[in-house]
Order: sequence, then C-alpha cells, then structure tokens
Amino acid sequence: MKVLKFGGTSVGTAEALQQVKRIVEGRSESVIVVVSALGGVTDRLLDAAGMAEKGDGAYVSAFEAIAARHRTVLGELFGSAPASLTQTLEGQLERLRTCLDGVFTLKVLPEKTRGEIVSYGERMSAQIAAALIDGATLYDALDFIRTFPQQGRHLLDSRATEKLVRERFAGLRGIAVVPGFIARDTKSLDITNLGRGGSDYTASILAAALDAEALEIWTDVDGFMTADPRIIKTSYVIDTLSFAEAMELCNFGAKVVYAPALYPVYPKDIPVHIKNTFNPDAQGTTIRNQAGDGRPVTGIASIGDIALVTLSAPSMVGLIGIDSRLFGALSRQEISVFLVSQSSSETGITFGVANADAEAARRTVDEEFAPEISHGAMRPATVEKDLAAVAVVGEGLKYAKGIAGKLFTILGRNGIGVLACAQGSSDYNISLVVEQKYLRKSLNVIHDSFFLSEYQELNLFICGIGTVGGKLIEQIRGQRERLMRERNLKLNIVGIARSTKALFSRDGVDSDDFRQRLETEGMPITPERLRDEVIGMNIFNSVFVDCTASPQIAALYKDFFAHSISVVTANKIAASSDYANYKDLKETALKRGVKFLFETNVGAGLPVINTINALKNSGDRIEKIEAVLSGTLNFIFNTISADIPFSQTVKMAQEQGFSEPDPRIDLSGKDVIRKLVILSREAGYRVEQSDVEAHLFVPDDFFDCSMEEFWAKLPSLDAQFEKERQRLEAEHKRWRFVAKMENGQYSVSLREIPEGHSFYVLDGSNNIILLTTERYHLHPMLIQGYGAGADVTAAGVFADIMSIANI
Ligand code: ADP
Ligand code: ASP
Ligand code: MG
Repeated sequence: MKVLKFGGTSVGTAEALQQVKRIVEGRSESVIVVVSALGGVTDRLLDAAGMAEKGDGAYVSAFEAIAARHRTVLGELFGSAPASLTQTLEGQLERLRTCLDGVFTLKVLPEKTRGEIVSYGERMSAQIAAALIDGATLYDALDFIRTFPQQGRHLLDSRATEKLVRERFAGLRGIAVVPGFIARDTKSLDITNLGRGGSDYTASILAAALDAEALEIWTDVDGFMTADPRIIKTSYVIDTLSFAEAMELCNFGAKVVYAPALYPVYPKDIPVHIKNTFNPDAQGTTIRNQAGDGRPVTGIASIGDIALVTLSAPSMVGLIGIDSRLFGALSRQEISVFLVSQSSSETGITFGVANADAEAARRTVDEEFAPEISHGAMRPATVEKDLAAVAVVGEGLKYAKGIAGKLFTILGRNGIGVLACAQGSSDYNISLVVEQKYLRKSLNVIHDSFFLSEYQELNLFICGIGTVGGKLIEQIRGQRERLMRERNLKLNIVGIARSTKALFSRDGVDSDDFRQRLETEGMPITPERLRDEVIGMNIFNSVFVDCTASPQIAALYKDFFAHSISVVTANKIAASSDYANYKDLKETALKRGVKFLFETNVGAGLPVINTINALKNSGDRIEKIEAVLSGTLNFIFNTISADIPFSQTVKMAQEQGFSEPDPRIDLSGKDVIRKLVILSREAGYRVEQSDVEAHLFVPDDFFDCSMEEFWAKLPSLDAQFEKERQRLEAEHKRWRFVAKMENGQYSVSLREIPEGHSFYVLDGSNNIILLTTERYHLHPMLIQGYGAGADVTAAGVFADIMSIANI
C-alpha cells in the first residue's frame, strides 16, 4: 500500500484533477490519496473569515468566489454532476456561508470557528476527487486525525490518531481518498488542523501508521531542488536526499515538503518520493535513510524576515546558567529561536528570531536579566532587524573541510557581509545571517559556487555513428547518471553526425531513437557545414569526437582548436598525416588551451600513447618500439589453420569488425605503418609514413584492383600460405606482423616468431607493445591486451573524453 498526496496546484483545476485521476487509477496496489484544498482556497477562506471578523461585508463576494470556483470545477469535470455530489457540495458551501455570516454578525472569530471555516477547502476537494476517481471511497480525516493544544498550536495526538487510523483502515482495499490538513481536537472534538502545508503531514501520518511501502508527495515541481526554484533559476532536482538533510532544508524554508511531515515516516524508513503531477515521468526525488553521495552540500534553503538579538556582557565568565535562563524565558513567551551563536570568550550570545518576535524577545531578555543589567554586569539586549538566514545543508559537511571559509569568501567577494554564523547542532547545516536585501544575491552566489561550478559540463559533438560511434553513445548513456552522481560531471551529447546528416540540440540529441531522428530531423551536411554548425553553436566546454575514418573530417580539427573546441579522435588520419600538419595541430591545441587526444589510434583502448607520454614527461627516452599492432593481422595469423584457409580468415576479420572497412588497409600494412608513425612521433621522433620500410605478404596487384576483384583473387594465395604454415608449425614458430622503430629505422614486416619470444603467445586480435627506454632497458615495458573491437575502442575514446573533464 502506498500513500499519495496531491497538493493544491495538483488539484487546483479540472485539468489537474484529471491528471490526478490518471495517476491514481494506473496503480495496481491499494492506495490512499490525500488531497489538499484547491490551490489558493485555504488563503481565500482565511481572508473571508478575516473580513467577516472585521465587519467587512466583502466577505460575501470572497465566499461567492470560492463557491463559484468549486462549481466551475465540478461542471468542467462532470458536465452535470451526480446529484448526490452536487447536494453534498452545496450543503458544505451553505454551512460555510452560515459560519461566515455568524462571524460577521458577532465580529468575533473564535479558534474553533476559524478551524471549521478553513476545513471546508479540503472537505470539498476530497469530495470532488473521490467522485472523480473510479472505485474510490472517501474517508473523513475528521474521524481519525486528532490533535491536542499546546502553546496556542495544535499538535498531533499521535497515540489517539494511530489507533483510530489503524481501526478505520483495517483491511483497506482499492482506493481511499482522504482530505489532508484537517483534524479534530481529541477532547473537545472541535475541528482543528495540522498547520499550513499540513496535508503532507496527514499523508505521512497515514503512511507511518499503516506501514505503507512509500509516501509519494505529488506537487508542481520535478522534485526536491538544490534551492528554491522561484529564486534560483539554475537550481536542479536532487535525485536522493537523506531524511536528515531533507529535515534541515524543510525546517529552513524549503516549502516543497512540510517539515513535520518527515517525522512520522523517518523512523520507519518509509521512502518519500517527490513527484511532479504535471510531469509524472520525471524521476523525482527520493528521501530515505542513507548515506549522502559524497558531495558536501546537498541543498540550500533560507528564511527571510528575521532579526538577531544580542545579549552581551563585559564578561559572562562566572555568570551561571545564562543560557538556560535565556531560553527558558523565551520559551515561556512562546518565542521560537532558530539560530544561536555564542562566542567562546563568553562575552555574548546572539540568537535569531522572526522579525515579528524581535521586540518581544528584546523585552523578555531585558526583564529576565534586569538585576544583572542594573549592576552593570550585563548590557541591555540589542536588536538588528530585516535580516535573512541562509542554510547550507549536506551530510557531507561533517567531513568536508573549509566549507565555511568558502562561504565567507564568496559572499565577501560579492560584497555581502555575514552578520552571524552557526555551524549546526546537527553537523549537517551551516547557517549564515545576512541583510535581507542581500538574500537573493547570497543564494545565487552560493548556489553558483557550490552547485554549478562543481557540476562540470562537457558538451560533445559525435561524428560517425558506425560501430565505434554507436557504442560510444551507448556507453555514455549508460554511464551518465553515475558520472553526475559520483563525479559531478554532466556529459551532454549536443550534436550527432554521420556522413551526410547531422542533428544538433543544446538539450541533448542522444535519445533512444537518435538514429531515426537523425534520418528524419537531421539537416543535410557537408564537412564544411558541419564545422560551421559546431563552431556556430558556441557552447562552452565543447569536445568534437571523431569516430570516422574520414580525411575531410580530420581536416576540420584545426578550425575546432581555433575556436576552443577540443578534439578526441579514433580517426588516425590527422596524427599520421604529414609531420608538419601533425605538429601544427598539436601546437595549435596547446596554444588554445584545448586537448587533441587520439589514444585509440593505436591499440584501441590500451594505454599506449598515454604511457609513452608519461615516460617522456618524466624524463625517460624511448629508444626502441617493437609491437604487434594490427588486431586484424594478428587475428588472421592466429585463425589460419589446416581447416581455415588464408582468404577465409580475411573475410572473417572483416565480418567480425576487426578490420578496417576495407581490409586491404590492414593487409597492405598501411594501418600498422600509420600506428608506428604515430607512436614514434609521440615518442619524440620526426617521422613520415614514407620513412617506414614495408615488407608485405600480399602481392602489389591485390591492392590496385576493385574490391570485387580483390575478394575473387584472394583464394589464389591460400595454397602457398598453407605450405608455409605447415613448415612453421613443424618449426614451432608463429607469424606476427611486427612494427619496429630503432635507431632512426622504421619497418613493418611479417616475422616468424620462435617459441619463448614474448610475441609468440598472443591470442586473437590482441596487440602487444614493447617499449625499450633508458630506464626500461634490460627489461622493456610491455603492454598487451585487446587491440581491436568497437567496445574497447569506444571505451578508449570515452577515457580520452574523461581526461578532458579532469583538467
Ligand atoms: P503543494 O501545494 O503541492 O503542497 P507547495 O507550494 O507547498 O506545493 O510546495 C511546492 C513548491 O515549493 C514549489 O512549487 C516551489 O516553488 C517551492 N520550493 C521551495 N523550495 C524548494 C526546493 N528546494 N525544491 C523544490 N521546490 C521548492
Ligand atoms: N490547504 C492547506 C494549506 O494551504 C494544507 C496543504 O495544502 O497542505 O496550507
Ligand atoms: Mg505543500
């Protein structure tokens, strides 16, 4: 069983109520639906009562407006409403009118009458909701929610309420509709309520008493946000909050949940979900007992219109019981204090109260300490009004260092002085007092610096959605939430392109159906158009990701660098192009403060280029590189056997996605040459592809013909390969296509590797790289593993993207 509470806006119009009906009727389990009054009605009822009390005849039109609002909603929902419903509602309106008339006549508004008047909001909305929702039964909260009076307020009588609720809902099946907010006094049975915003409380009381599976608070925002969205436009939804954090925020003015509503469900760890009635698919926020996500600050909240009262003495040392006398006196006057700051030198104590209570607080303090003041042992209290308190909340505050310092610094830098500061009784809260006129600005700068700048965004343009690009998009989508949660990193894919079409959107383009959208909504592009669009979007923190093998795309990098766009590429063309071009690209990127990363150009996801750079940066010198760099060729020579002839292994490599789309790029050694050139350059050597000697194993004429001819001719090589293979087998040797750089000599060749050599055992399409350096001299460094395949290549591209985020 779950309890669903719908707030005022959620039941405020016929349209909203229809939405509630859809949400509730879609449930398979039994539910209790708690409703608020139609949005704004509680205020209007209180206004009308106030007018009547003052003898203002305008209460009649205020009443008429309330009545009309309910009749209109009824008409819009039902056309002609069921007679019994109309009758009940009209009966309630009539009784309400009678109460108001009575108040007007007598010019008094006793508490019990106010309680009754204001109760009609929820009583009417619940009537309507129960009639609208199929199969729903109305349960009257006045029968089972009980309060008792204390210091002018009505507090929940938990024991009586729990008992009545359990009795009333025993064996509940289906849908129950309950008016929120309203209650009765246990003794007098007068109508009372749980305080403004109290429908949340009703729902929570029911959830706890009946051990509900969950409490859902349906409101008009997508969840609990990092700050009040009405003040902070950039606030965003918090996925999960602990009860402790939620309580701090709600007690400090986050109106989204009525703070007392968290108390009943907290000890039972009944999760609370905050959901948007008008956007039910949004994930919302879950509040439950759990450790925080490591982020020191979860949210901020504020209370405006407060005052600070300061009690001071030349020295309070030796004055016994000051605090207890102070707070005792304040509590007897029913003045609530929500912030205390005491100096350790014991010369003063400052506390925060509502502006409205400031004078009373001052008087109370002066009276309590009149003897000390008259002796000069204490000074009369001082009051500073029109202030606001900002609370920064998070379980991580307990462990984080320097948060208060950071708060003071950013406020100071923005010209805002901090008048008092309290670091929480709860460990989860740092509260600062500033002048009321700086409240909005304070919230904005604090939010910006704790939530926005720590929430790093990277905006990606992904070009090429073949095997690697497709996998990459899949991987990013799969990791996105974790990265946001654990790394405060938001990866946005803001552009996707294939050879002739592109799709751009600042809101992200990688929906489930991105391929289809690319076809239907994508704009036709040329490489130049693509470049202009990417640059034209002018998004901060952009990365262009090249998952193509296209020279035209590689030709765009320099323009991207010039516009502060980093490039991550699986495309080998740029890094293996003319040395001058390679050098120019690297230098331009460096000058512009952006990154040019191409780790996947060699060994797919294996950390080869990064390792070479790390060695070089630490002062080592790479003397020799020996490597098996072609996953394709290694696959071919590992697969060839008495049963599988050479030609078939080539076909298999292509079909399984190991080879370049045209396998001749692999067979010609061209792919390995490019890789060797890239590695050597990264190792600090100036080398061109033409410097590499190639010893090939497929005759030249295989490379000049068409693809069809190539495939047709390929089996003609099988017999010779089989003969050689048998010889090798007898000699316990294996073929490896080895790339080598040593002493300014560069070569690629098919070598026969004897048993015992580190290249001998090299499975499938694996790569192996031996780096001999000044430091790794006798025992070269060896990097080995999957060197081909879309998954690992995409993962390598992903890793490059992540390293940009880490700058
Ligand atoms: P309901 O009528 O559904 O109970 P409320 O008006 O009581 O709704 O609470 C929801 C409102 O709380 C939101 O519309 C929003 O303006 C306000 N609010 C204040 N602080 C926050 C916050 N941190 N997160 C979400 N909403 C907040
Ligand atoms: N209708 C009441 C109020 O406006 C209770 C609630 O909506 O939660 O305060
Ligand atoms: Mg509310």
